[in-house]
Amino acid sequence: ASFSDLGLAEWAVQTCQELGMKKPTPVQHHCIPRILAGEDVLGLAQTGSGKTAAFALPILHRLAEDPYGVFALVVTPTRELAYQLAEQFRALGSCLNLRCAVVVGGMDMINQSKTLMQRPHVIIATPGRIKVLIEENPDIPAVFSKTKFLVLDEADRVLDVGFEEELRVVFQCLPNNRQTLLFSATMTSDLQTLLELSANKAYFYEA
Ligand code: AMP
Repeated sequence: ASFSDLGLAEWAVQTCQELGMKKPTPVQHHCIPRILAGEDVLGLAQTGSGKTAAFALPILHRLAEDPYGVFALVVTPTRELAYQLAEQFRALGSCLNLRCAVVVGGMDMINQSKTLMQRPHVIIATPGRIKVLIEENPDIPAVFSKTKFLVLDEADRVLDVGFEEELRVVFQCLPNNRQTLLFSATMTSDLQTLLELSANKAYFYEA
């Protein structure tokens, strides 16, 4: 199968080619069509499997069709991962006028608040910092009122470190009809619970 067989737009297929991605990896092959179809996804896949592009490509495909508000919020356990995710989003979305913001600890909160208020298309955040920003600035929750995708990257780690409270605060800002995409190296009972809460048809992928 090729990237165009998965239902991705021509510009996205071309971008993959330019980045040396000749054909979809298994996690991309299975998850991209489901995400494009509007389903929630729990993908069990290791780093190196191509899981980032498995969610970034369909998100960017949808975003290009109808960009509005904060389109996607991606939560990841560490700053380093947040910057790596942003790099992949920017590379895969290089032919869009993509506005992608990283919101992590150790950076100035006033500037981060301002950045969020400008409603970037994609926000990549660590759980602690996004929670504080939501709680400190009463204008921030509305920024997420039309968000189309919530991604938990390395979801087992996010949940394992005890970020339930942070996630609760984030979830409260998001519309119920969003798509939820969970990617994790291992299956956990927390993930099972999250998947059961899903408002959409849910697809489970295991490498
Ligand atoms: P990830 O599993 O998301 O951390 O991706 C690991 C690496 O694989 C990244 O550097 C990607 O650029 C690369 N990659 C992702 N998808 C493909 C693909 N279909 N073909 C070749 N390389 C890929």
